[in-house]
This record gives sequence, C-alpha cells and structure tokens, in this order.
Amino acid sequence: DPTIGVLALQGDVREHLAALAECDVLARPVRRPEELDSVDALVIPGGESTTIAKLAAEFGLFEPVQKRINDGMPVYGSCAGMIMLAGTVLDGRPDRPPFGGIDMTVRRNAFGRQVDSFEAAVGIDGIDGDPFHAVFIRAPWVEEVGPGAQVLGRVTSGPAAGRIVAVRQGHLLATAFHPELTGDLRVHEAFVDLVRRAG
Ligand code: GLN
Repeated sequence: DPTIGVLALQGDVREHLAALAECDVLARPVRRPEELDSVDALVIPGGESTTIAKLAAEFGLFEPVQKRINDGMPVYGSCAGMIMLAGTVLDGRPDRPPFGGIDMTVRRNAFGRQVDSFEAAVGIDGIDGDPFHAVFIRAPWVEEVGPGAQVLGRVTSGPAAGRIVAVRQGHLLATAFHPELTGDLRVHEAFVDLVRRAG
C-alpha cells in the first residue's frame, strides 16, 4: 500500500489524515524533510496559503516539496493547497510564492470576502455519482488554465456558476473546496487511485 503524507504545517491536517485512513492507505503527517522522504504522495490541506508557504520555508520543506512535485510525486491540494499548487496566484503575497506545478492562475478569496463560506453542487469529471456537495471556505477559484492543465469541475449553480473549482495536471490534483469536511470520500479515493497508478 502506498504511504500518503499530509503537509502538517497549518490547516485541517487531521481531517485529511482521517479521510485517507478510510481509503485504506497509510497516512501520516509531514513536518520534516525526512518525513517527506518516506511518503509516496502528499496532500496539502486547506488553511492559509501564506502561512503554509512561510512555515514550509521555516521548516526547510519548501524546496524539497517543490523538487518532489517536479520529480513527479502525486499531490492533491485542497483550497489553500490548491493555491500552493498554482503556477500563478492573484491576490497573493509576492514574497510568498506557491510551490507551483499546475499550469493555472488562481484568485485567492475569489468568491468575495463578505461570503466567508458557502456550499454548492460541483460535478467532477471522472468521478461518478451525484455532484459533490462542495464546501467552500474563503476559497480560491481558478481564473484560467493553461494547455497543460485539465478542468475537472465547475460550480453548477448560483452566482458563481461556471467557475472552475477542480483541476488536474498529470500527477497533480486540486480542488477549491474541502471534501475532507463532508465525509464524501470520492475525491480522496480518486487521488489514491492516481497514486496507485503512479506507483
Ligand atoms: N483563503 C485561504 C488562502 O488564501 C484559503 C482558505 C482555505 O484553505 N479554506 O490561503
């Protein structure tokens, strides 16, 4: 079985560890470079992307994570994790660049600062069944993707209808919403599948 790490610097680490454990993989927190070395794949949780970027640098993890991403390690980023995987961040802090990896431009806090959180239906290509009951918390959206990236899902209704909120590029997967908070394991299962096929 693959071992999947959760970047455990800040954010909803525990919820991702629990969701992964339910998918029958070994899941463990990653706080140190040695811990990164021992995982086959990584989840970057929701939280605050500027804080995650700052702590990654302080814990000596920024370059190692970036290198693993470039070397093909599967990574799933949720919300702040999506921001960390973006090639370009709008409304980001220039002194805190993301890891990058996905050819996309994301806008932080895109749904409006007055709307702290909301829920919407999202269908995701490659995942069967009902649309996701997606929870967004000060979430980004994807303004545009480049030729390397594939749009997997958009908001289907409401004022944000049509906005891109799920993207894949090869071994990298990102969602603007938080499947780890709703007990719907289908995104984690899809990621585990991707990890098994990469291994
Ligand atoms: N607004 C946060 C950021 O910019 C993301 C919020 C979240 O991960 N729930 O990083």
